[in-house]
Parts: sequence; C-alpha cells; structure tokens
Amino acid sequence: MPSADPTPAPAPEPTSEPAPAPPLAVTGHDRHGEWRKADDWWARVAADRRSRVLVVGHGRVATDAGRLRRLTPAEAAGLVVLEPGATRLLLGETADGPVAAIGLPEVPEELEPEHARALTPALDGVDGGLVMHALGLENWHRTHPCCARCGAPTEVAQAGHSRRCRVCRAQHFPRTDPAVIMLVTDDDDRALLGHSPAWPQRRFSTLAGFVEPGESLEDAVRREVAEETAVPVDQVTYAGSQPWPFPASLMLGFAARATATEITVDGDEVDDARWFTRAELSELTRSGDVVIPGGVSISRWLIDTWHGAGLSGSW
Ligand SMILES: [Zn+2]
Repeated sequence: MPSADPTPAPAPEPTSEPAPAPPLAVTGHDRHGEWRKADDWWARVAADRRSRVLVVGHGRVATDAGRLRRLTPAEAAGLVVLEPGATRLLLGETADGPVAAIGLPEVPEELEPEHARALTPALDGVDGGLVMHALGLENWHRTHPCCARCGAPTEVAQAGHSRRCRVCRAQHFPRTDPAVIMLVTDDDDRALLGHSPAWPQRRFSTLAGFVEPGESLEDAVRREVAEETAVPVDQVTYAGSQPWPFPASLMLGFAARATATEITVDGDEVDDARWFTRAELSELTRSGDVVIPGGVSISRWLIDTWHGAGLSGSW
C-alpha cells in the first residue's frame, strides 16, 4: 500500500519474476456446458454430497472467517426460498466436486460479505475463477431482468447462463464488454503510464479503454492511446486477457509501440502521462513518488512483464 508519509521507509528489494500469464487468465473449473441443458440440474448437483455452493451479490462474496464460504446445497436451498430475487447458477466442477452459486441482490450480513476485489488476491486460481464466473453471471441477471426486444420480464434459463422472454421467446445471453489495456513503449524502451483525474496524486497505470462497435482490438488500442495522450502507435501485439466482471469487462492486454513521444493529455480521462525508463520506475516506486496498480490487476502484470523484475509497492 502507498504510504502517506512523505518519506516512506525503503521497500524490500524486489525478487519476484513476472508471471507467464495474467492473474485469473487460466481458471481451474470445468464449466460443463452440457450440464446446463438439464432442467433438473440443481437436483443433480444437490444429490452429489461433494457439491458446494458459493453466494455472491452486487460485487460481494460470502466468506467464512476471511475465506471463501462454501455452503452445502441444502444450506443454499434455504437461501433461495428465503430471498426474493435469488438466482441459481451452475459454475461446473472442480477436482473437489460440482460447484454452483446463489446470486442475491445483496449477500446477507450473517454470511460475512466481502468485496470481491478485496478477496480475489487471496484466492488460488481455482477459487478466483469460480468467483469471477459467479460474479459475472450475477451482475448480468440483476441488471437485465427484462427483454431488450419487447420489454417483458425474462426468466432464467440454461442453469443461469441465459434468460428467455416469456412473451416473444427471445433468448438473451450474458453481456461481456471488451476493453483494451496497453503498455506502450517507445524506441528507447521507455513505458508510457498515465494518471486519471479521479485518482490520488502519484498513482499511475497503463492506458485503457472500451472497444467500440465495428472496431478491431488493434484499432481500439491506437485510438485510445491517441485520444488520451496524442501519442501515435503502430505495432500492437496481444499479450493476454483477464476476466474483470466489475461489472462486465473482459480486459484484453497488449504491448504497443509508439512512433513519436510527444505527449498531449486529453485532461478528461488522463490529466498526466509520462515516459518512464525501468530504472526511473524502480526508483520512483521505491520512494513512493509513483504508485502503480497491484493485486491481481492485468495492468500490473503488463508493467511487470515489461520491467522484467518485481517493482515495489502498489495501491
Ligand atoms: Zn421479449
């Protein structure tokens, strides 16, 4: 965490190497799409005594003494009966057995709700993937109760992976919004990082933005960098992706090469942007004069992949 002290204590020397793929990029559960076709899928899951059920709602996850809470199907069934708006979601199967989730408008206080963004860094790849899957579905169900075609109420189908209109029979699928996020470098292999006006001072990160209709990912990278910093980019190389269901993003990470280095920020999404050498970023993050993202963020992974060795600190 960044220190508020103007002279923060020196951080320990970094030792970690960048991971080969972004956090959460490889999940550990089999989604078993074929299980969703059975109308009695919940009964089948409940009949397996290895089955466990997560509880999610509005970006929060049920926990038990700080760990991901796993209910038995019988315990979870009580929640479905008690809570209006509860949605049953089939996640699939891990090595420990089938896993489902209950999506609620809010996770009850007695189930110790924790914000998923805060909990995720403490989860392993299997649990992280389950939580991302459940959150993405729950967010979509909560915010899409009606048919986009005729306006009538829709009902849950395919074990929580689609909704069907009762009137016009249209079928609707969960929405995922692609967003590009890029580490731009110049001919001297410096990295371009930006500061948003909404952030505290000293916080810098990679540039990012949503893909627009009719646009390729590569053009979205070039457009966003040009809009936010006026830096022209030609070569764009895919690096890795990460689910980010807060509420519905898929982060698509890229390395991009600038053809000129003069910066003019837009002042709206980015109010400061700078080129950093590796040595400068090492020193500035160590001193706390620059704070970069951390946790499981793909932005930190992109920065670490470019930098080559663990940098100090994070927000
Ligand atoms: Zn309809």
